[in-house]
Amino acid sequence: TPRRIHESLQRWAASHPGAPALADAAIGLSYAELAAAVEAVAGRFTEAGVRPGDRLLLVGENSVALAVCILAASRIDAWSATVNARLSAREIDNFLQHSGARRALYFGAASPAAQAHGEARGAQPVALPGIGEVLLGPLNETAEPEPVQEDGARQVAALVYTSGTTGAPKAVMLTHANILFVAGNSARLRKLAPGDKVYAVLPLSHVYGLSSVLVASLLGGAAVQLAARFQVPDLVRALAEGVSILHGAPAMYAKLIEYGETQGNRIAAPRLRLAQSGGAPLTLPLKQGFERLFGIPLQNGYGMTEASPSICQTRGDSPRSDCSVGLPVPGIEIRLHEAEKDPDGVGELWVRGPNVMLGYYRDPVQTAQAVTEDGWLRTGDLARIEADGAVHIVGRSKELIIRSGFNVYPVEVEQVLNAYPEVVQSAVVGRPVEGNEEVVAFVEPAQGAAIDLDALRAYLRDNLSPYKQPSEIIILDQLPAAATGKVMKMELRRRAAAARQ
Ligand code: ATP
Ligand code: MG
Repeated sequence: TPRRIHESLQRWAASHPGAPALADAAIGLSYAELAAAVEAVAGRFTEAGVRPGDRLLLVGENSVALAVCILAASRIDAWSATVNARLSAREIDNFLQHSGARRALYFGAASPAAQAHGEARGAQPVALPGIGEVLLGPLNETAEPEPVQEDGARQVAALVYTSGTTGAPKAVMLTHANILFVAGNSARLRKLAPGDKVYAVLPLSHVYGLSSVLVASLLGGAAVQLAARFQVPDLVRALAEGVSILHGAPAMYAKLIEYGETQGNRIAAPRLRLAQSGGAPLTLPLKQGFERLFGIPLQNGYGMTEASPSICQTRGDSPRSDCSVGLPVPGIEIRLHEAEKDPDGVGELWVRGPNVMLGYYRDPVQTAQAVTEDGWLRTGDLARIEADGAVHIVGRSKELIIRSGFNVYPVEVEQVLNAYPEVVQSAVVGRPVEGNEEVVAFVEPAQGAAIDLDALRAYLRDNLSPYKQPSEIIILDQLPAAATGKVMKMELRRRAAAARQ
């Protein structure tokens, strides 16, 4: 059994050396070629001065080269810190600083944004075996390696930054054991096997793309098709060409379904057997729209960076007709904190198990706030649990809007808004006003649709109690979203406040 994440591919490199492992628009590697590339690139990292325990900053978008470098960092016991090239120069500099990286690599071939970041920081082109040219940043002489742990349960494999939905992104230390635990569960629950083709558009800079897509697929012997950006036509082509496993955020499925509606509700997907949504709340119209289009259930998974990420997951053998996130994944414990005090049995979800992070890097204070002494991770998410054990996420505790003493869960209002035909997606935030909070809704119209605000308000009055009605509805052509497809609510809270002035 693998103890470091790069070992996830060894079994298949031996038994199925010619089976396809990773592919993008430019490069395709079999399992044997991938194993050789990881070995050779790891050697180059050592020559470039990267030592065990050093952080290696990888700035890119999904590509074979990026995936190989994440695995090669593991091979030499360095920590990969992958950041999305679509972030701003200021954010990249923050990560470079905070991680204390020994070197940074910029994956310019698959990402003009990464190319620009690399050039701005004086990185030089180097050719890496099997994966082509990347930009290598200068050696940071002052970088100090962290101690290396013999045991993969304590050795950090990756620094993964949270999405920054509620504040500045936090740098989560995930160990090899954390990632392999989650990836192993994902591979088993999905019955991944050689012959499966997994579409990987969720960024490798995010934990979902890293653990549940990349490492899980390698453990299962599947082929991974890496896509740098989410583009509906590219996905439609990949589905026609035989993708069998699809992962995405709800926003991506919304765009896919919207496209399907313009195609007479037909999208060819001859081998698609499993589709998984995660990272943000799923809504019923979306789930039903997907199921009408493809005839298979849209599974819902819930997790967070600090839990590597899997916490709950609906299962293929017991599909659900609601938006529950299903049962906890095998091998972890969950509980609701202070649910007995709430009339609806809603409490903060706490998690304990091998998926819980080692901690936030260089931040013992926030780590102690997030993880209790006996190992419970406080998710900050509010949930209730049905009699059959199914978990429902009702929202984040930080996003709960308290309006004149009543609780408004943004997710509930978003669900209703999203069910409106002219709305493709929405986001609801609270806005502080004189000792109270009001509800502000942002809506993104469906392609070509014009939203009549009076008609939308009348619809909301028919479907939501008065205290849940938005005080303001703001139409945006596009909601601000991260590369993961997650709506950036911090940004919307700022805009909501600005709109009132
Ligand atoms: P930050 O912690 O920086 O504010 P973030 O919490 O959005 O950002 P992630 O770790 O990427 O960063 O996201 C985890 C969060 O996403 C969860 O805490 C939860 O609020 C939300 N989430 C993930 N999956 C689901 C799901 N299936 N249903 C509802 N919410 C989900
Ligand atoms: Mg979070």
